[in-house]
Amino acid sequence: MEAAVRNYWTSVRGRLARESARLLCRRPFRINTQVAVISFSFDDFPRSALLAGGRILGRYGARGTYYASLGLMGKQGPPGPMFLLEDLRRLLDQGHDLGCHTFGHCHSLNTPPAAFERSVIENQLALGQLLPGASFRTLAYPISPPRPGTKRRAGRHFLCCRGGGRFQAFNDGVADLNCLSAFFLEKSRDNPDAVKALIDRNVSARGWLIFATHDVSDSPSPYGCTPRFFEDVVHYAVNSGARILPVAQACEELTRKRG
Ligand SMILES: [Zn+2]
Repeated sequence: MEAAVRNYWTSVRGRLARESARLLCRRPFRINTQVAVISFSFDDFPRSALLAGGRILGRYGARGTYYASLGLMGKQGPPGPMFLLEDLRRLLDQGHDLGCHTFGHCHSLNTPPAAFERSVIENQLALGQLLPGASFRTLAYPISPPRPGTKRRAGRHFLCCRGGGRFQAFNDGVADLNCLSAFFLEKSRDNPDAVKALIDRNVSARGWLIFATHDVSDSPSPYGCTPRFFEDVVHYAVNSGARILPVAQACEELTRKRG
């Protein structure tokens, strides 16, 4: 019984967090494009996201966005070995997009907004020391939907901020640059048809679909997917008629003033 009550409150708290992340401290913009857009992003990020995932994207002439917590560099995480400095250099050389995931991989709900912002700044400073001149232009919130105050503070530093996997949707109509929806591929890795149906819906709605995952490996962690599944999705996305753009470039193009 106690466990049931605890589960109930956990689920209420989760729903409230999702709703406040969705409704408050928004930076609205209307998606108005003739051709749908799809972005591929990787969180944390494990080496395999670049070595396997990036190679697949490259085969199709596409580029991805890698959300790095520099505090995780060289460490071992749940999705496998994390990126090394040489991977950061390689991804920029290959034309991929580097995004911020906070220095300390801060929990977006449990971390007070001021501490979250400090970790955003710390990540930028660390990047400037490792790769002078490089900067993060977009952010992905780690672990959970953000607090409204975190959205407000993070939003000041970036072109746009991407939400976590709980949203599992594409962006259309009036979207929120402080918390864009994303679709985490690992949650449907046993159901490629569902992912393809989502790609089709995004094309019809002329929306912006942002995929996310972690490792790309033949024996993936619960947070990743296999190269075969990933390539199947990339192949379908490329042939869907949508434009495949890294998050920062998509954001710049979609928010550019027209006329
Ligand atoms: Zn993460």
